[in-house]
Amino acid sequence: MFGPPGSGKGTYASRLSTELSIPHISTGDLVRDEIKNQTELGKRINDYSARGQLVPDNVICQLLQKRISRPDCAKGFILDGFPRTIPQAQELEKISATDIVVNLEVPDEVIIERLASRLTCRKCGAIYNQRFLKPRTEGKCDKCEGQLYQRDDDRPSVIQERLQVYRRQTQPLLEYYVKKNQVKSISNKEAGVPPERIVEEIISVIQTKKN
Ligand code: ADP
Ligand code: ZN
Repeated sequence: MFGPPGSGKGTYASRLSTELSIPHISTGDLVRDEIKNQTELGKRINDYSARGQLVPDNVICQLLQKRISRPDCAKGFILDGFPRTIPQAQELEKISATDIVVNLEVPDEVIIERLASRLTCRKCGAIYNQRFLKPRTEGKCDKCEGQLYQRDDDRPSVIQERLQVYRRQTQPLLEYYVKKNQVKSISNKEAGVPPERIVEEIISVIQTKKN
C-alpha cells in the first residue's frame, strides 16, 4: 500500500488482510511497538517518530526482515508504510518479490482533515476517526477494548513535516515501481468515503492484475 500519511493505507490494509487471509504488516506499528515496549531500539527511534521523520533504513529493514520471516507470511503479506525510500525498496527486493503496488491518491486537504481527527488503539493499533469512522463506544477499541489516543505525530505541527518527508523521500519511489509496471492507482477525493468501497475497488484491481 503506497501513499501519503493519512491516505488510508492502514485502514484498507487491515480490512484487506481479513478478506485475503494474509497478514497486514505496518512498519509504523512495528516502530510504535518498539517504543511502547521501551526496547533499546525503541529508545533510539523514538525521536524520529515523534518528529515525523523517517527511522534510518537499516533499522526499519531489520524490523521488517524479522517480521517477514515469521511463518504466517509464507503465503504472502500486505505491506503498509514500507518501503518508503529507494534503499528500502532495494532491500525488499532481496527479501521478497512484490506483486502489486496500490497507490492511494488523496488531496492534502483530506489528509490533514483525517489525520487531525484520527484515533489509534493503544493496544492493537486499530485505526478510527472522531468524525468519519467512529468506534462503537467513545474512546474504546471495537476489537480489543483498548484505549484510543491521538498519536504524537498526528498533531497539526507534525503533520506538515510528515507530508514534506513523504514528498521528498517517499514519493520519488513511485517512479521505481512504475518502471517495474506494478503500480495501480486509486483516487479518493473525499474524507468520508466508507472504507469498504475503497477496499472493493482495491480487490478488483488485484483480481485484474492476476488474470
Ligand atoms: P503514516 O500514517 O505517516 O503512514 P506510519 O504509522 O506508517 O505513519 O509511520 C509512523 C512513523 O514510523 C513514521 O513517521 C516514521 O518515523 C516511522 N516509519 C514507519 N515506517 C517507516 C519506514 N518504512 N521507514 C522509515 N521510517 C518509518
Ligand atoms: Zn484495539
